[in-house]
Amino acid sequence: MQKLKYERPFIKKLNAGLMNKFGTRTETQPLTHIDGVPVKKLAEQYGSPLFVLSERQIRRNTRAALRAFKTRYPNVQFAWSYKTNYLNAVCNIFHQEGSWAEVVSGVEYRKALGNKVPGNQIVFNGPGKQKADLLLAIQHDSLIHIDHFDELYTLFEICNTISKKPRVAIRVNMDTGVYPVWDRFGFNFENEEAWSAITKIVSSGKLQLVGLHCHIGTFMLSTSAYRIAATKMCSLVMRCRNQLNNPLQYMDMGGGLPSTNTLKGAYLPGVDTVPSVDDFAEAITTAILDYGFKQDELPTLIMECGRVLIDDAGYLIGSVLANKRLSDGRRATILDFGVNTLFTSFWYDHQISPAQEFTQHTENMVLYGPLCMNIDVVRESINLPLLNAGDNLVVHKVGAYNMTQWMQFIMSRPAIVLIDEQQQPHVVRQAETLEYMEQPEQVPAHLMFNK
Ligand SMILES: *Cc1c(COP(=O)(O)O)cnc(C)c1O
Repeated sequence: MQKLKYERPFIKKLNAGLMNKFGTRTETQPLTHIDGVPVKKLAEQYGSPLFVLSERQIRRNTRAALRAFKTRYPNVQFAWSYKTNYLNAVCNIFHQEGSWAEVVSGVEYRKALGNKVPGNQIVFNGPGKQKADLLLAIQHDSLIHIDHFDELYTLFEICNTISKKPRVAIRVNMDTGVYPVWDRFGFNFENEEAWSAITKIVSSGKLQLVGLHCHIGTFMLSTSAYRIAATKMCSLVMRCRNQLNNPLQYMDMGGGLPSTNTLKGAYLPGVDTVPSVDDFAEAITTAILDYGFKQDELPTLIMECGRVLIDDAGYLIGSVLANKRLSDGRRATILDFGVNTLFTSFWYDHQISPAQEFTQHTENMVLYGPLCMNIDVVRESINLPLLNAGDNLVVHKVGAYNMTQWMQFIMSRPAIVLIDEQQQPHVVRQAETLEYMEQPEQVPAHLMFNK
């Protein structure tokens, strides 16, 4: 038998991830691989910064969330919120998992058509639909969720010129006990504006009122808000049937379920405080089931979840450009991405991991981006091992609202890679180039520099 090689014993500080005196945790583990692919290799091959998406995690999240609702309620339909992440590769994963498309603009509507989503599986929300968008949605038999009276009257006007009876719902806003109340979108429940819109639609005979919609907020931390919202929605569904003899096919409870990111200013990390999808599913489905519908009159429950399904499937790989000391002595580390690329750093204290082994010595530091702007702070204060120029790091849970809200500002936007379930990376969006940035520009002849 071969003798084992002697290894010198070493002492390693046990770090249980407890809070230090600043109330922040030390991020202790290096993240060297994403779905089996080495971070260093990804950065080398596709450049830094680089967004990475895990197909496996997106599918896992979607299936778990569907299970949470479908085990509790007989008819459930998901619709993928396009604005959360509308890369076509991403949308098509959700469509393969059975999700419809939830869109909030003409551009998103056309993207859904481009992804071959059948028109009757597109839910059209948003306060800014144009007449041409509405016409297109009517042609394709989509579900139009009306936001305000002017949109309703535009639809009436369109109906005078066509023979079709478009399928519509109204968006309802309401007091759910969470303040400030989101009352900018849709028709208000408490002051009967919603009911007034409903009666106008039904009595016109021009539109088919087939459902009701609400979306009570985003990154909601209260399950009771959903219970209250579902109960109020049920009362409208019941009233439509009893008073107007207009039974509704569905109730759309929108999205708003939180990911496990940590909101800025939160005392505890998101993973410890955010209710689970099961908690929300329980609140919503119990409210509907307990309301008193006959079994065969239960409305289909549509959910438009966004961030909760994709945030933790997204990573941002970056590199350290330099380190410096600020005048107050704080260590500052300059990264090759900033708020231009990572829009959600305005809202979250993102978890950030070094991508290589490091020493146990850590220090509280500021992480800056490369923009020549004072606001370009990725983390105001984070306890990390000392990183050297050239080191890589990985930002966690960036799948939602970054790859749609990123800015083309000072720098061009980086590539996005999707790692498939067989651990194969695919570029799903190339890094932008200067040519791409300047492509829509036109310079008048007298301003051509070589005139
Ligand atoms: C943005 C949006 C969603 C998704 O919201 P999340 O908070 O990401 O779940 C769903 N429905 C509507 C109408 C939206 O505007």
